[in-house]
Amino acid sequence: MKTVIKFCGAAGMVTGSCYLVRHNGLCFLVDCGMFQGSKTLKELNYGEFPFEPESIDFVLLTHAHIDHSGLIPKLIKKGFAGRVFATEGTRDLLSFMLPDSGYIQETEVTYLNRRNEQRGLPPVTPIYTQEDGEKAIEHFDLIDYQAWRDLGHGVRVHFWNAGHILGAASIEIELAPKETEGDNIRLLFSGDIGPEYKLFHPDPVGPSDIDYVICEATYGDRERKTIPPAERRKKLARVVSKALSNGGTLVIPAFSVERTQELLADISLLMSSGAIEEHIVFLDSPLAIRATKTFSRHAGNLEDIAPDGDLFKNGNFVFTRTVEESKKINQYKGGAIIIAASGMCEAGRIRHHLKRRLWDKNATVLMVGYQAPGTLGSLLLAGKKAVRIQGEDIKVRAHIRELDVYSGHADAAELQEWILKRMPIRRGVFLTHGDPGAREALSARLAQSGLSEDRVFLPALDDEFELLTVPVKEKLQTKPRLDPAVVARLDWHNDLAQLSLDIRDELDAAADERSRQKIIRRLRRALEAKPAKD
Ligand SMILES: [Zn+2]
Repeated sequence: MKTVIKFCGAAGMVTGSCYLVRHNGLCFLVDCGMFQGSKTLKELNYGEFPFEPESIDFVLLTHAHIDHSGLIPKLIKKGFAGRVFATEGTRDLLSFMLPDSGYIQETEVTYLNRRNEQRGLPPVTPIYTQEDGEKAIEHFDLIDYQAWRDLGHGVRVHFWNAGHILGAASIEIELAPKETEGDNIRLLFSGDIGPEYKLFHPDPVGPSDIDYVICEATYGDRERKTIPPAERRKKLARVVSKALSNGGTLVIPAFSVERTQELLADISLLMSSGAIEEHIVFLDSPLAIRATKTFSRHAGNLEDIAPDGDLFKNGNFVFTRTVEESKKINQYKGGAIIIAASGMCEAGRIRHHLKRRLWDKNATVLMVGYQAPGTLGSLLLAGKKAVRIQGEDIKVRAHIRELDVYSGHADAAELQEWILKRMPIRRGVFLTHGDPGAREALSARLAQSGLSEDRVFLPALDDEFELLTVPVKEKLQTKPRLDPAVVARLDWHNDLAQLSLDIRDELDAAADERSRQKIIRRLRRALEAKPAKD
């Protein structure tokens, strides 16, 4: 029987991580992530899986990020009855992240169905609910780092610390041959690899002498300057001190899991060493508060933090859980730091803080994470003078700052180094979890390091390869859910979003009401004109 790997996600894109392995009548997944980003990709979450969910024997999970784990409740809903093997950190984070993801699906669908009803369209059902997310946790089975675990049927697994987020692992898999003769096949799935000097985690580790490495390539085309912890904190201290001088307020949109805890840890250290003045720090996100409690519980296994999770128990930290507590922050007059989700300002409590503070020239908004094009965060960073929040136009007078010193991902040089440390790699490297440019750039780096091009593969969505054939791989005939050209191109929704922004800019810049009317008339004429032949 053939040993086959199928790339059911994160192939030519950075989300939807999901790989299927078939071997000796056994069938299992590594990750089962949600697609994020463009509408075309997100629609894949609603469609059928490219395999039979009830035929899957078990799932191995690299880490808790939703683009690696977010479709597990759907897999169970569709008939999967096996176990999900993950580290304790991953399980603990997902015990609230999966229900939260279900809650988001329910909310989005409620909104969509209201529109569908107005348009006479049939209602849609959520991919899964909060309750489905809660039930999914019952399928979890814990795996320790650095120890072999026999899963039966000739499969053994070994989880290595990937240094990416709490609980993250690279997964080594050993597949025994069907007959007693023949060699084992050894696979290594990188998961997401963390950078050097990552707060809380040691540098990523992994085995060598592998048949196939399946490696992420998120930043395969980007090199970052290495920033040691002391320098990172110094940069943060500069922004915080400036923002809080003269009673100013600092608002930080942050991702709830890990980035928020990194900020709290650094702020706590800076305050206790006197590098910044003591101020109230509001953590205004129920999800981030739960994540912080989880980090405290795991403090004994984390670096840079006392075993009792002391860093998060700073007397200046105020955790606001209820909506009433959150609203009260608006009345707070003295200088304060407000950390709230979401990280790109698209949802969550951060929006009401921005609405309240953006007009204030004594306030500062600090971006500490990636801002996708078109998000409110990206508009603020681009220096827009006014933004629309919850139907209201808000003037931007606050200072907008960016601090690019926190990252959960290895850069190109670190990814290259991680792969080379796995040598000898006997048969091949599959580069996944990266945009086309990032994968090609990493592939070129590997070629320079002596990994010849015929050993490095860039699979497309739903590609299947037979492993252990001569030559080293054979691509099997499959029908993909999306054409690679469609995946690489931004779909028209993004083009439309950009066009709407451009029109708005043009109208804002117009001198008076008359010129605005003129622009609108021109646009209408263009819309009604016969399309030119192209
Ligand atoms: Zn990740």
